[in-house]
Amino acid sequence: MGLIVVSNREPYAPHAGDGGHVTWVPSIGGLTAALDPALQHAGGTWIAWGEQQPEIERVDLPAEEPRYRLERVRLSDAEVRDFYHGFSNRALWPMSHYFIERTKYRADWWRAYETVNRRFADAAVRSYREGDTIWVHDYQLALVPRMIREALPDARIGFFWHIPWPSSEVFRTLPWDRELVDGILGADVVGMHTEEYTRHFLSACRRVLGAVTNGEAVTWRDHVSRVVARPIGIEVDAYEELSTSPEVEETAARVRQSVQTRILLGVDRLDYTKGIPERLEAFDAFLDRHPEARRQVTFVQIAVPSRERVESYRQLRAQVEGLVGRINGKHTRDGWSPIQYIYRGVPREELVAHYRAADVMLVTPLRDGLNLVAKEFAASSRDGVLVLSRFAGAADELPEALQVNPYNPEGLASALLQALNMPLDEKQARLLRLRERLRASDLRSWADGFVREVEGA
Ligand code: UDP
Repeated sequence: MGLIVVSNREPYAPHAGDGGHVTWVPSIGGLTAALDPALQHAGGTWIAWGEQQPEIERVDLPAEEPRYRLERVRLSDAEVRDFYHGFSNRALWPMSHYFIERTKYRADWWRAYETVNRRFADAAVRSYREGDTIWVHDYQLALVPRMIREALPDARIGFFWHIPWPSSEVFRTLPWDRELVDGILGADVVGMHTEEYTRHFLSACRRVLGAVTNGEAVTWRDHVSRVVARPIGIEVDAYEELSTSPEVEETAARVRQSVQTRILLGVDRLDYTKGIPERLEAFDAFLDRHPEARRQVTFVQIAVPSRERVESYRQLRAQVEGLVGRINGKHTRDGWSPIQYIYRGVPREELVAHYRAADVMLVTPLRDGLNLVAKEFAASSRDGVLVLSRFAGAADELPEALQVNPYNPEGLASALLQALNMPLDEKQARLLRLRERLRASDLRSWADGFVREVEGA
């Protein structure tokens, strides 16, 4: 009895070397890191969009000791545009993050979404053997559970929605609200990151479909689904180990040496949900109010390029770069500049070295499904302070962070001051408690636990 994982992103991407030899490189990202061991253990199939060239339909992975099969779904350029950049990222993403004014609800994008979801579902049905457990992931594939259920009425199906589930008032702006909820309810177990998201989802089941709910159970079309809050964890041990390795210590020392002042750190995909302009404005206001902090602190912002084909993301980049220029222009003195802006993704070792080097980590999204960066910092830092938005899904689990309202620059500035002045023993005590909590529900136990719940359904 194997496991079938269905996700948009593939766990390994092919890289064609000299002479046409292809190597499979693990993809960056928490989800694939969590599910790869689970699937290696169970054996089975991973179905994902074969984004990277060359075109290879299926491969056994990992290459050196194959444990499962990757089935790569091919998408045409038009499908990538309409299903992925269109419906997924311009309708579902902004809607779920409460940015209604940024949504674009186009019927042709919706049709592409249905068509592509059907393709993933068909691949799952083809791979299915009796007794298998199927686990479908995220907002790009919300119709897949129902499509599989129609073909395989007795299959055990789990679904995880990795982004926020908004209040029904917002969700009901979606013209295909019924179809989406009905699609998800093809699953036996529906997972989300927080109790609040599951409450909102249950309310959508009632208001949009008229389904009956009882506690975490939803009855719809003679089938009962359970809706549960299961926040994803991180590989705590791996981060602890990496953060104390000599290489990372050395890189962290180099970062400190080159910055020369205390370090405030931001690490985000360049996305409008992450609150980067608001954070920069708050830092500017902080420097205005506390001129004595000049030359004492530097804000290092790592911004990872994201969705650059979408116009609003290009606009955001221009806005952020304009702000960095303006603030640096205003406060730079005697060789010190307040903001170091890094526009690229960095490898994990370098990232962890930055976590180690930071005095204060600023994780201040306007809305975020969970936020792994906050957890990774808490696992890696030895003497830093986490400042965390109350609108990050991880906030419930991380009460020892200094929690802020990212819409309030005053509050952000005073949290910054509090963080910079916090005594070392208090910082260490908070980090210790954070790490204990993270260890209690790490990535492996999240993945294994969810699979067990679906198996038991
Ligand atoms: N990350 C990375 N390199 C970078 C910046 C981030 O590998 O330069 C990783 C980071 O370690 C984290 C993930 O990207 O695991 C971001 O996840 P998060 O939940 O914080 O935000 P998302 O991008 O999924 O919205």
